[in-house]
Amino acid sequence: MIDPAPARHVTEDQADEYGLRLLLLRPATAAGIGAIQLRLGHTVFGEIRFSLCGIDRRAVLVHVEVEEKHRRRGAGRVLVAAAAARAPRYDWTTLPIGQDPITVAFWARVGAIGPPIPHPCTHQTQQGVVPAEARWTKWW
Ligand SMILES: [Zn+2]
Repeated sequence: MIDPAPARHVTEDQADEYGLRLLLLRPATAAGIGAIQLRLGHTVFGEIRFSLCGIDRRAVLVHVEVEEKHRRRGAGRVLVAAAAARAPRYDWTTLPIGQDPITVAFWARVGAIGPPIPHPCTHQTQQGVVPAEARWTKWW
């Protein structure tokens, strides 16, 4: 469908109206939350939000969302692959997936990028990447 390789990611100023693009929204601060959107022109099909720390080589996946009418066509899978490709040798964890059946089914199909127990570094913690209520799984 679309090449998830980082070399193919574009920034806002390179976005155009003509094709499906992976648009990189860099975080405002190092180790903050950035995003990749799958877009056709200004139409956002889906978005993945994540934090990377190049010092500690930690990656935390914060959220993936695909517009309801664009689901089940591989958009979420491409977004996950695009985020993973930006940090291939990082220690990836994700925020807890929760109980929502759509989310659970999505991750069962796509395959988890890392355990759903977030493991942020001090920089990511300072940036508030992991909300306080997500730091501990509920069954502890
Ligand atoms: Zn760090």
